[in-house]
Amino acid sequence: MKYQNSLAFAREQDAEDPLKKYRNEFHIPKDKDGNDWLYFTGNSLGLQPKKAQYYVNLEMKDWAEQGVEGHFNGTYPWVTYPETLQGMMAKVVGAKPEEVIIMDTLTTNLHLLMVSFYQPTAKRHKILIESDAFPSDRYAVQSQIKFHGYDPETSLVEWSPKEGKDLLDMDDFESILEEQGEEIALILIGGVNYYTGQRFDFKKLADLGHAKGCYVGIDLAHGVGNIMPDLHNSGVDFSAWCTYKYLNSGPGSLSGIFVHERHAHNRELPRFAGWWNHNKETRFNMRLPFDVMPGAEGWQLSNPPILSLVPIRAALEMFEEVGMEQLREKSVKLTGFLQYLMGELGSDVVRVITPRNPEERGCQLSISVNNADKRLHEQLMENHVITDWREPNVIRCAPTPFYNTFEDVYQFVQILKGLIKKS
Ligand SMILES: *Cc1c(COP(=O)(O)O)cnc(C)c1O
Repeated sequence: MKYQNSLAFAREQDAEDPLKKYRNEFHIPKDKDGNDWLYFTGNSLGLQPKKAQYYVNLEMKDWAEQGVEGHFNGTYPWVTYPETLQGMMAKVVGAKPEEVIIMDTLTTNLHLLMVSFYQPTAKRHKILIESDAFPSDRYAVQSQIKFHGYDPETSLVEWSPKEGKDLLDMDDFESILEEQGEEIALILIGGVNYYTGQRFDFKKLADLGHAKGCYVGIDLAHGVGNIMPDLHNSGVDFSAWCTYKYLNSGPGSLSGIFVHERHAHNRELPRFAGWWNHNKETRFNMRLPFDVMPGAEGWQLSNPPILSLVPIRAALEMFEEVGMEQLREKSVKLTGFLQYLMGELGSDVVRVITPRNPEERGCQLSISVNNADKRLHEQLMENHVITDWREPNVIRCAPTPFYNTFEDVYQFVQILKGLIKKS
C-alpha cells in the first residue's frame, strides 16, 4: 500500500474504511477537557463495547427475577452459557468449537493446562520459554518446575535474541531443540511477544517441538483478536489467552483455552477435576464417580462466573459479524501506516523494534525513542494520548482495527514529533 504523510490522506483512508461504523459501537474514554483519548492500549485493556452493558443488565435482571431458576430458565441459561460462546470464540482463533472454552483467568489456565502438559521426568524435565516472556508466564513455569521438585536454574531454558538484537531467530530455537530437545517436556511461547510485538510461526514451533517429543503451548494473550492464529491447523497442543485485551471484555475478565482435538478423548492425561468437567448429562446426579468430558470443556472446574462472561458475548458478536479476515486486513494497513510515519520521523529519532513484515507481527508496534525517558510518556498523556511505556525508552502502541482510525495514528505521530522537537 502507498502511504502519504498527511492528515488528508488519513481522513481519506477513514472515509473508505469498511469497518468505520464500529468505532461508534465502543465507549471512547475522554480526558478531563472532554477530548477523546487517542487510545492505543487495546493490548492492555480493550475498550468497552456499548452492548456489554445490555448483556450485564440482562443477567442482573434474570438473577433478580428468577434467582436460582436462571440456571436453566434464564434468557441465556447459566449452566450452558459457555457453550453458547464456543462457536464464535473458535472462529476468532481458528479452531473447532469443541477445542475451545472460556473459563477462569489466563495465568490460572496456564497452570491448569500445565497440569496436563507438563509431566516432568528425570530425563525430560525442562520448559522452554522466550527470554522476554511476560512475567506472569515466567513465574507460572518457574513455580510449576519447583512444584514438581526440579530447579528452574537447570530446568528453565530461554530462547534469547542474538547478541545486540531485540528479536528472536528461528535458527536459535532449532539449535536449542537440537541440543536439548530430548530433555524438554514443554515449550511455552508468547505467540505475539508482549514487549517486541514479534509474532511467531506456530506451525513451525509445533512441528519442531513435536519432532523432539515436546508438548507445545502458545500464550495467545497478545495475538487473539488481532492476528489469525489458525490454532487447529498449526497443530499446537494447547493455548490460552485473556479476553480483556483485544477481545474487549472488561478488566480482569476470563480467559479462553484451546486444546487440540487430538487430546479431546484422552482420559489418561493428568488433570484437575471439579463438577464442571464431569459429564454434563449426569452432572446434577451428584453422586456418580468422576467422568471427564471430552474436548476443551474437560478442563473446566467451576460453574461459570456469568457477570464476567457476558461482556465477552458483546465483543464476540462483533467479531462474528466482521470476521477476522476483514479485521486483519484493516489492521495490516493501519499498523503499516504507523510504521510508515515512524520512518518519516527518521531513524535518528525512533527505531521500531517490531518486525517490519506484517506476517511477523500483530497490530502492535514497539517503538524505541532515542534519548527519551518516562517524561515523554507523561507528556503524551498530557496531550490525551494513551500508549504503554516500558523502561527504558519503549512506547508500545497498538492501533486496534475495531476502534482506532488512521487519523488517530496520524495525530499521535504529530504529537510525538512535537514533543521530541521540544525536548
Ligand atoms: C496480559 C497477559 C497476562 C496476564 O495474565 P492474567 O492471569 O490475566 O492476569 C499473562 N500473560 C501474557 C502473555 C499476557 O499478555
